[in-house]
Amino acid sequence: MKRSIWQAAARRLELPALQRDADVDVAIIGGGITGLTVALKLSRAGRTVAVLEAGTIGDGTTGQSTGNLYATIGSRLSALRRKWGEETTREVVAARAGAIDFIESKVGEFGIDCEFARCAWHLYTPPEALADDALLERELDAAIDAGLSARLAPSAPLPFATGPTLVIVEQAQFDPLKYVRGLASTIASERCAVYQNTPVTRIDGEAGVVHTDRGRVSASHIVVATHTPKGSDLANLQVAPYREYALAMRLRSADYPRGIFWSAGDRHHSIRSYRFDDSEYLIVVGERHKTGQADDTVDRHARLEAWARAFFDVATVDLRWSAQGYYSPDELPYIGKSVGSDKVHIATGFAADGLTWGTLAGLIIGDEIDGTENRYAERFRPSRLDPAKSAKKLLAEGVNVAREYAVGRFGAVPAAGEAGELAAGEGRIVKIDDERVALSRDGEDRLHAVSAACTHMGCIVAWNAAEQTWDCPCHGSRFSASGAVIEGPALDALKPVRWPPTAS
Ligand SMILES: Cc1cc2nc3c(=O)[nH]c(=O)nc-3n(C[C@H](O)[C@H](O)[C@H](O)COP(=O)(O)OP(=O)(O)OC[C@H]3O[C@@H](n4cnc5c(N)ncnc54)[C@H](O)[C@@H]3O)c2cc1C
Repeated sequence: MKRSIWQAAARRLELPALQRDADVDVAIIGGGITGLTVALKLSRAGRTVAVLEAGTIGDGTTGQSTGNLYATIGSRLSALRRKWGEETTREVVAARAGAIDFIESKVGEFGIDCEFARCAWHLYTPPEALADDALLERELDAAIDAGLSARLAPSAPLPFATGPTLVIVEQAQFDPLKYVRGLASTIASERCAVYQNTPVTRIDGEAGVVHTDRGRVSASHIVVATHTPKGSDLANLQVAPYREYALAMRLRSADYPRGIFWSAGDRHHSIRSYRFDDSEYLIVVGERHKTGQADDTVDRHARLEAWARAFFDVATVDLRWSAQGYYSPDELPYIGKSVGSDKVHIATGFAADGLTWGTLAGLIIGDEIDGTENRYAERFRPSRLDPAKSAKKLLAEGVNVAREYAVGRFGAVPAAGEAGELAAGEGRIVKIDDERVALSRDGEDRLHAVSAACTHMGCIVAWNAAEQTWDCPCHGSRFSASGAVIEGPALDALKPVRWPPTAS
């Protein structure tokens, strides 16, 4: 896996793996910002808690994000207001602003050194595109209406000429990885066990048991804080997975932008700066595509770099990474009890706004389990269904998934013997008898052969050359070349296939 700037700046976090069976009030699967906020809330409320993290705390999407905290949302407040009305838009902004205040207060209370700082958020008209002028006006109106302190400026404080810019003050930035690792170190205690390197392999919601290869944890409540729920949760069929690419670069000049900058153009770039180890870095994020549906993943970083070089005096490109977000059809996340269960709680559909949504989810789920009323809980209930707000996107994504499923399962694929040689770093789907096999060659010239059928719902995975992974184009599960689960709804690895195949 490529390292993000936060991972490059991070110190090791020593926490144990699960050693034996345990019995707690609440088992939390996933040690990102969502899982740790729930753990903080419930352990402080006197519950016994076990956090089970597959890898290292914060190394999921939280540690690969941009570290921006804002009360607005990526899909635009004006669009939210059109869909949900003024009251809900105000509620969303108040809830998100409250979540940022919560982070700020915990940074202070626990003395977490994560460079939390208040700053302005900007939506600027980029020089390379004629943005829809009316968009900024609409956003200004929606932001003020929702209670934010916003204004229009003639340009953005960037080292290149921009058009009009919407500015919202008192937003914030931090190092998200230092924050969640700070939370983990603070709350890890006898009452709140935090386990790393402990992947959950099965969730039995009925019985209240989560299984791992290192033991099982029984609990009255299970929180699936894995960014999208594991297994066959309804929410997995409603959210759409997209990947995005990021670069950290050093500049020749000192022209590092101060604050959060989003482009209002079609290409949706996000820009910020960050300093560590006495060097300043420019972070640029963009080039989004649906997971498993781009065959030019290697070019995406190159395109992002070319864009950055056109506007900044880039000296070196130091870090490249990419990450995944899950987009809900009605623009709001799903937070709370999983549909049909009283014991399992989920949180997903955060788009690329989930440092704040994840914190809010932690607070809502914490209250839900603690039996405390939370005034935002109803708004984000996973069982909500309002076709007027979600049907269009659900239908479009459903058609897309059905097409990917059909093309993957029934499209033409070369037989194993006719597929030709694979170069290092290449991957290809081949056919052996009726089975589709995902074949790849790694940098050390080893061939890997695994079943190409995603273990979530059977779609055929696609090779991601930039990450050297197999990505599912239907619901975003991702696997290593040798089949291990990396992220997404799948719980089981891709099945190994004997290679070379024996003649049948
Ligand atoms: C490129 C990009 C930039 C972004 N920038 C921002 C930003 O600036 N601001 C913002 O608000 N949002 C941003 N986001 C979104 C935000 O990063 C995420 O929504 C948020 O971090 C999700 O947090 P989480 O805790 O729910 O999930 P994660 O941080 O992904 O945590 C889930 C954890 O679950 C673990 N896990 C998975 N499966 C298992 C298992 N079987 N057993 C045990 N553990 C398991 C994973 O290892 C992982 O650590 C960005 C997203 C992207 C893609």
